[in-house]
Amino acid sequence: MSKSNLFINGVKGDKGIVLGNEAIARGALEAGIGYASMYPGTPASEIIAVLDKNKKTIENLYTEFSLNEHVSLHGAIGASWSGVRALCAMKNVGLNVASEPAHFLSYTGVKAGLVLAIGSDPGAPSSSNEQDDRWYSLHTYMPIAEPSNIQEAKDFTKDAFDISEEFSFGIVLMAPSRLCHNAGKLYFDDLKDRSGIVGDFKKDPENYLNLFSMAVKNHAKYLNRHNLLKNYLEESKFNKIINGSPSKTGFISSGVIYSHLIDALGILNIYDHKILKLGFTFPIPDKLLSKFFEGLERIVIVEEAEGFLEFQIKKMAYELGFKGEIHGKDFFSPAGELTIDDVLAGVSRFLEKPLPVFFDTAIKKDRELQDKMPLRSGTFCIGCPHRATFYSILKAAGFSNTEGKERNVIIAGDVGCYTLGLLPPYNAMDFFTCMNAGLGIGQAISIFDKKKKVIALVGDSTFYHSGIPVLLNAVQNNSDVLYIILDNSWTAMTGHQRTPSTREDIDGSQPSHSINLKELVKSLGVTYIKSMDPNSIKRFSSQIKSALREPGVKVLIAKRECVLQEARRDKLLSKHTAAAPATVESLYEIQKSRCVKCNECYVELACPAIIPKKGAGEDAEYYFIDPASCVRCGVCYEVCPNSAIRKVEFDLKPKLNKKEAIADDQVELRKELNV
Ligand code: SF4
Ligand code: SF4
Repeated sequence: MSKSNLFINGVKGDKGIVLGNEAIARGALEAGIGYASMYPGTPASEIIAVLDKNKKTIENLYTEFSLNEHVSLHGAIGASWSGVRALCAMKNVGLNVASEPAHFLSYTGVKAGLVLAIGSDPGAPSSSNEQDDRWYSLHTYMPIAEPSNIQEAKDFTKDAFDISEEFSFGIVLMAPSRLCHNAGKLYFDDLKDRSGIVGDFKKDPENYLNLFSMAVKNHAKYLNRHNLLKNYLEESKFNKIINGSPSKTGFISSGVIYSHLIDALGILNIYDHKILKLGFTFPIPDKLLSKFFEGLERIVIVEEAEGFLEFQIKKMAYELGFKGEIHGKDFFSPAGELTIDDVLAGVSRFLEKPLPVFFDTAIKKDRELQDKMPLRSGTFCIGCPHRATFYSILKAAGFSNTEGKERNVIIAGDVGCYTLGLLPPYNAMDFFTCMNAGLGIGQAISIFDKKKKVIALVGDSTFYHSGIPVLLNAVQNNSDVLYIILDNSWTAMTGHQRTPSTREDIDGSQPSHSINLKELVKSLGVTYIKSMDPNSIKRFSSQIKSALREPGVKVLIAKRECVLQEARRDKLLSKHTAAAPATVESLYEIQKSRCVKCNECYVELACPAIIPKKGAGEDAEYYFIDPASCVRCGVCYEVCPNSAIRKVEFDLKPKLNKKEAIADDQVELRKELNV
């Protein structure tokens, strides 16, 4: 049975290897959800993507890639109030956007279970910060479940729906990127019968009309429910005291870091210290903590980020009269992801127990090797239209790496694939913070710095997320900004989810609604608006130059579909249609005899399919287009100022009948292509 089938049809006793995100989605399915939504965000995207992919075969399941996290959580609340269990997923910073609904949810409560699955990102490999969303619960009062492994990711999600209903809270399920993206063994349980998932909204003004004195009453009610939940968690299966044997030293941990702690203690050969494993990290039950404190003189809290558990436990220890030492962030860094090595080092220092010799040597060797590893920079995919867009912007701004010329405009960055433009060789961003900060901050800079022009960048998905009010604000206040919307038709960076202007789905079908972005921008009052293909470099670059000369808000839409999605669709359709195989193969080649190595293609455009090469017995390198990597976008052909790049077409039938002469020095190209 394939994994996707098992995901839908697996029953109690089945097992499979799944991602943490898939385990969360499966737990929600086992709990009988009827609603699942998210604004895509790494590392959480697959939670809803796997449900969306399979929704046609899952009875009564509604899935949605919402415009943003605020809308998404509101949608989940609507489903819950209609009596339908709802899962809403987002990445850590998404909760900032959804914080308004998150703050009223405990006041109003839920009807059917609601779980908010948050992918946190310690180390920020795919985020602009390391924000630990657990701190939100100190004021939203949303309880937090923290699974430690793949099995718990499913089981806790499933149980969280029951707890949500029993105590009328939306439950936060926290999963760091290491859990979201790791794969492991999962034992399935049975799915609920889905035929009865039908919405029925029942009026409940006492809870749902949350204002004035009613809000105050709701406040008191949720504080009471919070205490009831705390009592429930005293005896629950989620929190456990392990190794109750007499011991003066204790550890408290949760989530994936708990698994690291157990590994670290094993490596140090320590099996007798008391451990409190918290499956729910908010609220923490008093009696259980009191019981854990018994006989202990020293405690260390092992957790990632800035010490959310330490903050709560130190306060509770004071109230409970615990007199021993409590440590935490003095042994474990508050910044960056805690690896098993970091946990091991911290535990070894806390216990004053040296690392086993072999491990100490291994860690040192590992660090040595890491220092020697060549740095690898991120870059755009080969053929990505964003590469052409950045090339055009930089040319219009007078920038040249090769000639050492600085650009003369401020470029405001934003969140998406195009963020990679901040890396060399483009270095094309002066600031980058959060969703739609580019135009938001850029428009204010344009008010005060009249000497420089401002270009603000945004992707289509990010624009729909929260860019519309920012653009409206710029129009209303007549800001002097050039706003470039890089419209590749997908939320590409998070795994290619649809955006409102996705024009053609991956299977060739038309989405039921596709927004005309140009018309939308026009309707916001923008009068200067052009839409064009960024791969037409000369046209696009000269359009940027003219736009920069105009006053006010100017919008250019760089409209070209993500090259990966286009290729996937072509592949899928050619597999399922009876189209005749292509008889012509085209490719781009650099003619050695004409190339002067001006570096426009290799350094300025920086397409990775262009590589320096040395022929046998030759001293000098020449530039070569690797036919296996090149996707034939033709952009290098346009940027070469010396007409050294040309398009060659091969008639594949008969094989060696070429339509155009091929330079002798490219004979090996034919060999590589086997034509
Ligand atoms: S045509 Fe040129 S720019 Fe496009 S993928 Fe090939 S080498 Fe790169
Ligand atoms: S192929 Fe053209 S653009 Fe590339 S280095 Fe040679 S002359 Fe310059």
